[in-house]
Amino acid sequence: MSRIAFIGLGNMGLPMALNLLKAGHQVTGFDLVAASLEQLAAAGGVAATSAQQAAQGAEVVVSMLPASSHVEGLYLGSDGLLQHLAAGTLVLECSTIAPDSARKVHAAASERGIELLDAPVSGGTAGAAAGTLTFMVGGDAKHLERAKPFLQQMGKNIFHAGPDGAGQVAKVCNNQLLAVHMLGTAEALALGVANGLDASVLSEIMRQSSGGNWSLEKYNPWPGVMEGVPASRGYSGGFMAQLMSKDLGLAQQAAQSVNASTPMGSLALALYRQLLLQGKGQLDFSVVQQLFTADKSA
Ligand code: NAD
Repeated sequence: MSRIAFIGLGNMGLPMALNLLKAGHQVTGFDLVAASLEQLAAAGGVAATSAQQAAQGAEVVVSMLPASSHVEGLYLGSDGLLQHLAAGTLVLECSTIAPDSARKVHAAASERGIELLDAPVSGGTAGAAAGTLTFMVGGDAKHLERAKPFLQQMGKNIFHAGPDGAGQVAKVCNNQLLAVHMLGTAEALALGVANGLDASVLSEIMRQSSGGNWSLEKYNPWPGVMEGVPASRGYSGGFMAQLMSKDLGLAQQAAQSVNASTPMGSLALALYRQLLLQGKGQLDFSVVQQLFTADKSA
């Protein structure tokens, strides 16, 4: 049993923290949203009034925040969390942020003898709840060995992507591909339905054919085709379009830094920005379906 501080109890963080509780750890959490703290406390965790308070005496800190600015705001600066942690504390930074930002936090942590890993995840809210996330880890292999028991309590696949920041590079590559196949899937479904096909029948045909992909397999964007996915509950919950847009922006920054050509990623970002302009940023990212159909049920 370890004493764990968990910062950021949103769509992903709360179910991850609940899995650490189930594994027998003492979990103290902090989030800006009171309802999330109440849910943690109801499950046997402890609600703190600040990140500093949550981290007092913690052997392990896990953070799951929206973006780079939140992570830098939490850890860096004269009153940042790194100043309040004992040397030897293990920090698992699981948010999806810019690789450069992750490297900045790594450098500051290492100056203070804090063992930090960038460990962004894939698998969505369902994977977070089921404890089957994939972790893409950047940082020292020795720190990863120490982190593995905790990561295994929240996930199934743990990859060492490489040195500091490499987990974030892997994550932005993955999410660029995810956005592209979600957009392609939504476009193909709308094309088929407009030509008289049933969305469920077409989905099954493509899933079993060479167009098969994760969006068709696990996360169908057409309402009612698949039970339990955001598309079948008004695109609520899940992975917000504004977060996907952020990740596509990170992929473009990564491309810029090495002069990579990423036309699909660039188009995906432009399409996600359209959704944000339509006020759909807080809906699940599969709401891209609505870019391709006038049918209000989709
Ligand atoms: P979310 O917005 O639901 O959760 C983020 C939480 O952080 C919120 O509850 C917010 O109140 C809290 N927060 C913000 N600033 C804070 C601060 N200073 N101190 C404490 N709490 C603070 O987002 P999410 O969907 O849980 O995503 C979290 C991260 O995981 C993002 O980087 C996202 O890109 C990534 N991610 C999400 C998914 C998904 O399917 N939702 C999948 C993989 C990765």
